[in-house]
Amino acid sequence: MELERPLPRPITPEAQPYWDGLKEHKLMLPKCDDCGKPFFYPRIACPLCHSRRISWIQASGKGKLYSFEIAYRSLSPAFKVKAPYILAMVELEEGPRLMSNLINIEPDPKVITCDMPVEVVFEKLTDEITIPLFQPAS
Ligand SMILES: [Zn+2]
Repeated sequence: MELERPLPRPITPEAQPYWDGLKEHKLMLPKCDDCGKPFFYPRIACPLCHSRRISWIQASGKGKLYSFEIAYRSLSPAFKVKAPYILAMVELEEGPRLMSNLINIEPDPKVITCDMPVEVVFEKLTDEITIPLFQPAS
């Protein structure tokens, strides 16, 4: 089966728990043991206090649409998701923001609003890679 989007290639060991979690339909976030703040993307040191004491929490998968853009054509021929589609910056309940696609809603600026509640949907691309997409919260 042809993939609709370029396959992420996890190469950094510090992000492995994120990819492992997605395979089990869990959205995992790194959290600093020193300042207590979750953050995204995964990295070896806390972006807020530079501590290297990092553990992982399971995010609720709920959040709100922080910002969005409707793409009417694809930027790359490798990206075959049918346009128009929605690029979304989602602010998770836990605080961190991540870039994803908003799905299961009309790609129409009249029906999409910033701060609308959204929830994660897991899309399995291969046995190794599942990605988090978001849809309007039910
Ligand atoms: Zn910290």
